[in-house]
Amino acid sequence: MGKVYLTGAGPGDLELLTVKALRLIREADVIIYDRLVNLDILKESKDGCEFIYVGKEDSNHTIPQDEINEVIYKTALKHKVVVRLKGGDPFVFGRGGEEGIYLRKRNIKFEFIPGITSAIAVPEYAGIPVTHRGVTVSFRVVTGHESSKEQSQIPWDNYKTDDTIVFLMGLHRLKHITQKLMEIGKPKDYPIAVISRGTRHDEKTIVGTLEDIYEKAKELPTPALIVVGEVVKLRDELSWFEK
Ligand code: SAH
Repeated sequence: MGKVYLTGAGPGDLELLTVKALRLIREADVIIYDRLVNLDILKESKDGCEFIYVGKEDSNHTIPQDEINEVIYKTALKHKVVVRLKGGDPFVFGRGGEEGIYLRKRNIKFEFIPGITSAIAVPEYAGIPVTHRGVTVSFRVVTGHESSKEQSQIPWDNYKTDDTIVFLMGLHRLKHITQKLMEIGKPKDYPIAVISRGTRHDEKTIVGTLEDIYEKAKELPTPALIVVGEVVKLRDELSWFEK
């Protein structure tokens, strides 16, 4: 029986990979990877390493998590070093916990290898600090994707404060998100940014207000995340990556 390394691959830029993750990618017999993983990382693997893709092509073709769990488990029965590679960090909307629980129940050993999460690194590449002295003392990372359209699981009323809010998986719900934020009392001209393909060579950021961002940013390619808060304005002084 092998061991599974539930590993964060970082947000995109190949160099935003931890030394530990790189070592395991080089040692891996099998790498089970997601759509958000920068494929150049796989070139670091040893000869004969096997690759299994469990990403989804679009939101209509998701491989059910149960099936992914089973693939990881079966692979670990046959191979010694199994790297389960995920975009960003395994615990930030990465379902790493679920995979760990599944393996523990079946007596498969595992380790978690944290990754640099897009929630912090992508705004950073866009010159938007998630906290900034004198501007905000906290930030939240929220899913923009809700399992049911009718019943919101997002506690919108909690977001009346001036925390920075980072929405992951939210581009397709951008209009809904901005409407909700205005409904709970945020001003129409409150700053918001959408960052597409962050930390990659074709990263693109669009800055706007709750009122106009949807029209400005709806066509941006994915992956993309949304940052809401006064910190967005700091991009004027801190932008450094995009040409
Ligand atoms: N575990 C990941 C997040 C998984 S959820 C992490 O820690 O980063 C997937 C969402 O992350 C995407 O829908 C998008 O909102 C965001 N995301 C991931 N990589 C991104 C990137 N390079 N640029 C912009 N958003 C990204």
